[in-house]
Amino acid sequence: MTVKQYYQDAYMKAFQTAIQDQQEDESGCYVVLEQTAFYPTGGGQPHDTGTLMDKRIINVEEVNGEIRHYIEEPFDDISGVVEGQIDWERRFDHMQQHAGQHFLSAAFAEALQYETISFHLGKEFLTIDLNVSDISESDALKAEELANRIIREARPIETKWVTEAELSGYPIRKQPSVTDEIRLVIIPGFDYNGCGGTHPRSTSEVGAIKILDWEKHKGHIRLRFVCGDRVLQQLDRKHGILKELTGVLQSPVENMVSTVDRMITKQKEQEKALEGLKEVLLTYEAEGLLGVRKDDYTLIQRAYSDRPIQELQKIAQHIVSKREDAIVMLVVHNDQKLQLVVAKGSLPTINLREAAQKVFPLINGKGGGKESFVQGGGEAVMSKEDLLEKLVNEL
Ligand SMILES: [Zn+2]
Repeated sequence: MTVKQYYQDAYMKAFQTAIQDQQEDESGCYVVLEQTAFYPTGGGQPHDTGTLMDKRIINVEEVNGEIRHYIEEPFDDISGVVEGQIDWERRFDHMQQHAGQHFLSAAFAEALQYETISFHLGKEFLTIDLNVSDISESDALKAEELANRIIREARPIETKWVTEAELSGYPIRKQPSVTDEIRLVIIPGFDYNGCGGTHPRSTSEVGAIKILDWEKHKGHIRLRFVCGDRVLQQLDRKHGILKELTGVLQSPVENMVSTVDRMITKQKEQEKALEGLKEVLLTYEAEGLLGVRKDDYTLIQRAYSDRPIQELQKIAQHIVSKREDAIVMLVVHNDQKLQLVVAKGSLPTINLREAAQKVFPLINGKGGGKESFVQGGGEAVMSKEDLLEKLVNEL
């Protein structure tokens, strides 16, 4: 069994040991060491990375009690002393995040009796799921304040191996899943937790905790937060965005919300005004379309490119509302599609639906409507002019 040095000293950044074995499994080539400071994935804490002599350690997993250090390529010779080096920035970040999660979960339990049912330590954020269906801003603030107070008080974080029988002497919140060799992580007077992760010596090393936001997730509340140096990274990133926005919006940060609010209101008004103007333009366009007088109707036809079908509908509707003798046939070519609108005023007796249904199969299309108003479309297998001609021939 490999000696787990990360439990003896969570601050060990480099160590010397010997390679016991070199093997390969479905995840790649790995070595097993006599002792290791590399933390393997577990208890919600991601694995360490680093180097073993000149090899990169890219993953560390505990498989059937064996700690496997995955390397990109195997050692030619595994005899002798090897030196391991942990990527300390990554590890310390994990210690800060992981310990911070303890504090925040304990704070929710202590202040509000909200229980944490799961958590996740991601590359940028952490999440915890709380067994409540909703929380308020003041609830979140209360827990965040308590967690940050525990950090400021610089309380020790102790670990202790206990047996199941000894466990009853501690006010633990959740029964550990393992029954022998239980590792207790203790923040005296605040939190007692069964945990196999790595933690800093003092709560103060977590620095700060900031809740970012939360959402409903499968009947629970999933809360996003950051700890330690990630708080500063968040502040830095968000401050950078705000600074950029003050330039773009020509507005100081404190007026930004009202400035954006005003802009959105103005934009909506302009969109509405533009919509109105478009309608007016379409009526002018409709009135400008000249027709050809036939026996008992006036035929108005036109083919367009790249126009929304809705505009054609409006043009056709406008014409037939003004001219009761009109038959309107409009075709548009949009991308790979041909679309058409056919309409008539109250006088012509032709059934437009029947006429149009004869044309749709020619473009592998379909459409529908009333006897007096039909629309539809299909593939652009012929020119828009040809389609128009075929439509007219059906009259
Ligand atoms: Zn822990």
